[in-house]
Amino acid sequence: MSRRIFAGNWKMHLGPEDARQFLKVFLSRYRHEAGREVWFFPAAVALPAVAEAAGGRAGIVVGAQNVHWEDQGAFTGEISAPMARQAGAQAALVGHSERRHIFGETDEQTGRKVRALLRHQLTPVLCVGEKLEEREQGHTLQVVEGQLAALAGLDAAALGQVIVAYEPVWAIGTGKNATPKDAAEVHGFIRAWFAARGVAERHTTILYGGSVKPDNVKPLLAEPEINGVLVGGASVNVATWSEMVR
Ligand code: PEP
Repeated sequence: MSRRIFAGNWKMHLGPEDARQFLKVFLSRYRHEAGREVWFFPAAVALPAVAEAAGGRAGIVVGAQNVHWEDQGAFTGEISAPMARQAGAQAALVGHSERRHIFGETDEQTGRKVRALLRHQLTPVLCVGEKLEEREQGHTLQVVEGQLAALAGLDAAALGQVIVAYEPVWAIGTGKNATPKDAAEVHGFIRAWFAARGVAERHTTILYGGSVKPDNVKPLLAEPEINGVLVGGASVNVATWSEMVR
């Protein structure tokens, strides 16, 4: 059975108490199904609440939205990979477009974060994706390839632990999505990039993100290249999220 991941990026929504309430309702409706995984990326302060509420339920994974590349130090406001792990994270997003375009994170920093996560046995979910003008100029694959360079130098064993989320910037929070065919083309390119570095095609997990909602998730997941979805807006409402996962 192929892997199907439903990952919710809560961004700067839902504090610890909201998160506990969300999980209570969600889990009352949740039944584990083979091959389906539900990942939650809450705000850092809500990580322990989500991890405790999930209580190791089958098919549920908890992750941080961001980490620093150093393990500790004078970096006010940051959290490190080992801290995220201590708070209950098993994974973390890296290079989300909001980190890149609002906070100015570079591919070099993104690469260091991936390595920090791997050092601490956390699964990196590396987000890549082009801006609208880059797509219009036909530069999508070139941009994605440039962002994948954050993984340069990792061996096949390390690369095999990385999940990629293809999230076209123009589709995030805008109500626009890539068509399943457009997304599949980019996913195929990413899969080939990993295969050229020794990771078997079936072992590379690639999510699609960008305005995924209950009414458009099915055709996206029907595309064999798409192993799951990374969802922002539609993941913070428990009714919508439960419906999507169901
Ligand atoms: C995201 O934040 O990763 C995302 C895809 O957001 P949205 O679903 O709101 O477009």
